[in-house]
Amino acid sequence: MKTFFLTFLLLITSPSWATTYQAKQGDVLRIPAPIPGENLNVQAFGKSWPIYEKDGKHIAWIGIHLSNKPASYNIQWTSGGAASVNQALDKVEVQKGAFRISHITVEKKMSSFDEAALKRIRADSAALKKAYKSSVSINNSWPAMILPVEGVVSTPFAAQRYVNGNARSPHSGLDIAAPTGTRVKAPLAGKVLLVSDMFLNGILVAIGHGDGLTTVYAHLNKALVKEGAILKQGDIFAEVGNTGRSTGPHLHWGVQFNGNKVSPKTMLQ
Ligand SMILES: [Zn+2]
Repeated sequence: MKTFFLTFLLLITSPSWATTYQAKQGDVLRIPAPIPGENLNVQAFGKSWPIYEKDGKHIAWIGIHLSNKPASYNIQWTSGGAASVNQALDKVEVQKGAFRISHITVEKKMSSFDEAALKRIRADSAALKKAYKSSVSINNSWPAMILPVEGVVSTPFAAQRYVNGNARSPHSGLDIAAPTGTRVKAPLAGKVLLVSDMFLNGILVAIGHGDGLTTVYAHLNKALVKEGAILKQGDIFAEVGNTGRSTGPHLHWGVQFNGNKVSPKTMLQ
């Protein structure tokens, strides 16, 4: 009987619902902590997310992967220690992003790769994966970004391309058209994790910004830094180009947050 009573008590003290947020695939949510206290922690999509202090408030940044299925997800907050624990549950309702869809037709030989190319593509993708997993100890007190280059958006984030009727992976970044040689600025302080010349991406730089944030720049004309370089926000590290599989000079800018591909636009100040 005693056991039964205790179980019942635990159930009725379980956390209550706080706020329900609306977001689209690829968005970065910035939400205030609904509970006070030390050791504040927030979990969503099976991961822990960084919390920053701004104007005396604790604000969590949560990145919604562009392919997270539209549904309602829990955001679980905890704070305190062994003696007293605060808990709260927020929710986020993820809606489908209104991503651009285009169909193109190309000759068959243009849409397939030979064995040597495939080998390079696989090695390139492994190098990128490794960069995404690197942990970087950079402290950005509020990781809002500035634009790396000014220009016209030529392909939006998550645009879906069908080549000869077959779906390609959604566009993982934002393409900004700009003349070859345009200087590329670090959108946020960071550490250069990777400088490489890749089969599809051309000359590529990846930068780690701490807290699971990594940005990638592809089709560059030139990288002006070496791996390991530390950059301040606004430092010039590369030139826009047309290398790799590219149909004109532009910057491909991608952002990964805790392994989730998010829209670079939602990271801007
Ligand atoms: Zn692109």
